[in-house]
This record gives sequence, C-alpha cells and structure tokens, in this order.
Amino acid sequence: MPGDRASNCKGMMKAIAVKQDKKGWSVKHKCKKCGHSIWNMLAEDDNWDKVIALSLNPVDPSLL
Ligand SMILES: [Zn+2]
Repeated sequence: MPGDRASNCKGMMKAIAVKQDKKGWSVKHKCKKCGHSIWNMLAEDDNWDKVIALSLNPVDPSLL
C-alpha cells in the first residue's frame, strides 16, 4: 500500500465508499483506530476489483 494512504496514527485504513467525478475515481478510507476519514484518488494500478465491489455494495451509513 502506498504510504500516502497511511494515517498519522498508523491505524488500519478501511475503504468505505467510492465516488466518480471529472477528475476520476476516488475512494474514501476510514481509520479503524482514530476514526478520521480521507478521500484518495484512484490510480490506474489500483485494485479495481475492490473499487467495483465497493460501488456495488451499500455502505454502512454509520461509517461515513
Ligand atoms: Zn487514524
């Protein structure tokens, strides 16, 4: 995993949502440790199977 996905607290980041805009796809990660969440742009070499699965499955609203 790229270092820019890690949070300062070094907690596990879980992908909880995806979105698409003019710039491309982004995935929202939430830290299991401290609870903060961030959007990350997706790259060509990212795990698209995961992204697609996430976009097809409803996300628990309590995680957002
Ligand atoms: Zn954290």
